[in-house]
Amino acid sequence: MIKITVVSGKGGVGKSSIAASMALVLSKNRDIVAVDCDVDAPNLGLLLGVKKEGFSYKEVGTKEKASLIEDRCIRCRKCVDICVFSAISWDNLPIFDKYLCEGCGACQLVCPVDAIELIKVQNAFIGFTDTQYGFPVVGGQLKPGESGSGDVVTLVKEKAEEIANKRGIETMIIDSAAGIGCPVIASVTGSDYVVAVTEPTPAAFSDLKRVLEVVEHFNIPYGIIINTWNTNPAFTEKIEKFASENEITLLGKIPYDKAFIDALVQLMPVVAYDKRFKKLFKSILEKTLAEVEK
Ligand code: SF4
Ligand code: SF4
Repeated sequence: MIKITVVSGKGGVGKSSIAASMALVLSKNRDIVAVDCDVDAPNLGLLLGVKKEGFSYKEVGTKEKASLIEDRCIRCRKCVDICVFSAISWDNLPIFDKYLCEGCGACQLVCPVDAIELIKVQNAFIGFTDTQYGFPVVGGQLKPGESGSGDVVTLVKEKAEEIANKRGIETMIIDSAAGIGCPVIASVTGSDYVVAVTEPTPAAFSDLKRVLEVVEHFNIPYGIIINTWNTNPAFTEKIEKFASENEITLLGKIPYDKAFIDALVQLMPVVAYDKRFKKLFKSILEKTLAEVEK
C-alpha cells in the first residue's frame, strides 16, 4: 500500500482542494482511497461532491471524561484543586465541565473515596462513501467542543485501510489537518511520502518550515507545491531558492485562477471543473510517484 499525505502548516492555502484533484487524477490509473484526516474541519468529501449526509457515519469514542458518583462524595474539594484544566467548579459539590475535561484522571487519583469515574464518551463520527468518480472517500468529524482529534485520525486511517484491503486498493491519498499538532502527526505517521502545500506569503512559508520539521522528524520523504505562485512571484522565487538549497523537490507551482473558486462553489475538484488543469496535476502526480518509487 502506498500512502501519500498532503499537508500544509498554514490553513487556507488550498491543501484539500489540491488533495481532491490529486486523488481524481491518480484514480485514472490506480485504484485509490481518499482519506480526509482533517477531523476538526473536514471538507475533502465536499470537494469530491459528497455532502455530510452522504457519509455512512458511525459514532466512535476515543476519550474519557470524569463523572461524579454523588453519594460517595465527602466534599473535600481535592479534585477541584488538582484539575489543571479548570474543568471542575464548585457548588457544594464538584461540577465537571464535559467540554473542559481532558480525561487525564488526576481527580480520580486524588479522590479519597472513589467518588469519580472516567466514562468513555462518543466524541466523533467516522464514515465513508463512494464518490461519483469511482473511488471511496473515508472521513471523520469531531463533535463540537470535543477533543482527541489525533486518536480520531488514527481510527479514520484504520477504516480506510480496512476498506482498501477489502477492495484490493493499493494507493491511499490522505488530506491531513493543517498545523503541526496531534492530528497532523497522526496523519503523516506511516506515510510513504508527504506533499507539503504552501503559498508565497511569509506566514505560509514560516508554517511550511514548521510542518516540514515534523515530517523530517518521522523521516518521511517529501516535496512541496507552491499554490497561487503568481500572486507573489518574488516570494515564490524565495521559496524555490529555499527548496533548491535544501534539496527539496519542487513538485509543482499552481497559479491563482478563478476556476479554483468556481470549482469549490460547484463542489468539484478543479481538474474535473476545468480541463486546463489536468496537465499540471498529471505532472505533479508523475513527480510525486517518481519520488515515492525512488
Ligand atoms: S479527568 Fe483531569 S481534566 Fe477531567 S476533571 Fe479530572 S482532573 Fe480535570
Ligand atoms: S475529591 Fe472526591 S470526595 Fe473530594 S470533592 Fe472531589 S469527588 Fe468529592
